[in-house]
Amino acid sequence: MTARFDLTEALERRGALLEGHFLLSSGRHSARFIQKFRILEDPSLLEPIARSIADVFAAQRPTVVVSAAVGGIVLGYEIARALGTRAIFVEKERGIPVLRRGFSLEPHDRVLVVEDVITTGGSVREVLDVVRRGGCQVLGVAAIVRRGDAELDVRTLALLDLPLRSYDPDECPQCVAGEPLMDPGSRRA
Ligand SMILES: [Zn+2]
Repeated sequence: MTARFDLTEALERRGALLEGHFLLSSGRHSARFIQKFRILEDPSLLEPIARSIADVFAAQRPTVVVSAAVGGIVLGYEIARALGTRAIFVEKERGIPVLRRGFSLEPHDRVLVVEDVITTGGSVREVLDVVRRGGCQVLGVAAIVRRGDAELDVRTLALLDLPLRSYDPDECPQCVAGEPLMDPGSRRA
């Protein structure tokens, strides 16, 4: 990866790694935010990212890439292109993660699970559950960025580790310093 280009620098240049004082969807505050669609919207960045991940797993001969909707879909498709496999995704139907749209998994499938950013690992675990119900072999999980130390019971590859440090609003040092709070969901960076 680093032999090809500097991922951190590439993400900063595109505004995917933001420094500031952010309100997270959890309600906690953080000095750093990842605007993941600044990565996913750019094929010239996503293509080499996907190829780096594909190179790591190619020797295990995956037959299908399975991702979580929505952010994982584009990444999964690019990785599948590099591997020469299908790309399918798990989405929720009445709150339950399932395969829809006629997507299928067979017991002989060798599955690579992908997610754009892993924080708690919750959506990845949902994908793993769906895949295992299909009786398939899971070769591993791959992500662009890992924000925490989510314990997954399979080989996990992250191209970039950026541990998330967040604060309760009552204990946030940036609130104490009087820095204005930004809601990244409404940010037009
Ligand atoms: Zn704060």
